[in-house]
Amino acid sequence: MQRIIIKKATPQNRSKKIMLDRDLGSQWEGEAITEKEEKIEEGKRLFLSLSSFVIIIFSLSMAFIWYLIKPRLLEISPYLPTITGTAINLFVFYVIFKFFFAVLSALTEKNILSFLTINNPRLIHLIYLSSTKIGNIFGISKDRIGNSFIHFNNSLVRAFNKKNGRERLLVLLPRCIQYSGCKQKVTENINNCRDCGRCPITEFKSMHKKYRFHVSIATGGSLARNMIYRVQPTTILAVACERELVSGIQETSHVRALAIPNWRPEGPCKNTKVDMSKIDEAIRFIYNHNEDIMLKDDITEVNIEAEVQT
Ligand code: SF4
Repeated sequence: MQRIIIKKATPQNRSKKIMLDRDLGSQWEGEAITEKEEKIEEGKRLFLSLSSFVIIIFSLSMAFIWYLIKPRLLEISPYLPTITGTAINLFVFYVIFKFFFAVLSALTEKNILSFLTINNPRLIHLIYLSSTKIGNIFGISKDRIGNSFIHFNNSLVRAFNKKNGRERLLVLLPRCIQYSGCKQKVTENINNCRDCGRCPITEFKSMHKKYRFHVSIATGGSLARNMIYRVQPTTILAVACERELVSGIQETSHVRALAIPNWRPEGPCKNTKVDMSKIDEAIRFIYNHNEDIMLKDDITEVNIEAEVQT
């Protein structure tokens, strides 16, 4: 079995770079990856199973806590156990209610209770963190869980799709998607690609011309955040590994974000690939209600050139 180990960055080579809070790919440092992680295709089911387990454990834990504190509460006041029990029950019911309808919305890709704000990114993320811990106990890698979570998140985005009068799409790509031997400075401007066809950049370039979205080939979290700040997108379509995408989804919970995990046929952070049919489908979904305006969106009003990393 092929094993690829990502070397740790040394202080010397780190100091040559602009200080970034998180370099893309840094989450793989010092890790051995196997062929299993090269291309992960999990559905929503894995995350749904683990998260349901998390909710059951949470409910049982709350019941157990109440059972433990009940005698102490009785010593203080005969009414306190009832009041505390009711508060705990309401809290557990609130969490289960939100979770249940989020799951239902993700499964059907429809906003089941459109009159209520069911989507709660913080709660979903807490459940995700607990799911990775439980998955770890059963030997399920965080990348498989992350991949499943990303599918779940994409379904939620589709369920809570808000028709936008003026769509502003930002496509975020990782630098490792560019062919490693290519010298074209596509991080400065995607139009510097010479369309040799050795990597997916050429396809993104032609899509960028067709749909006129903003595109950034980001080398780190700071640069990606900077682009989001400058472009102020209504939607983000991100391509990266599962770890980067899950981090990105947490950080951009205020913007609707669709995420497409890449493949790593040569290990992480080198010559990565992406299923372009998924990108095409996602862009069609984003512009679904805006086909008449998508070509009118003026992308020149924001300087979309990425900062050059030296
Ligand atoms: S398609 Fe563009 S970015 Fe990719 S290797 Fe060829 S010239 Fe470079």
